[in-house]
Amino acid sequence: MPIYEFRCETCEHQFESLVRKHDESVACPACSGDQLKKLISAHAVGSTTAETPCGNAPCSPAPMCGGGGCGG
Ligand SMILES: [Zn+2]
Repeated sequence: MPIYEFRCETCEHQFESLVRKHDESVACPACSGDQLKKLISAHAVGSTTAETPCGNAPCSPAPMCGGGGCGG
């Protein structure tokens, strides 16, 4: 089951949440806001259902691919 990491753009609270459906709504536990940025969780990398910011590129050591190597 994929665990997604979210960051609230309202209060910048960061939290993890299980999301079973892509369109499942998640609210910030701190302020109940719904302006959330979905981050990739390290726990979910490698899962067949996980979405990575790098598409098919093997970026599991680095969740964010700013350093190149998977520049798409
Ligand atoms: Zn919040």
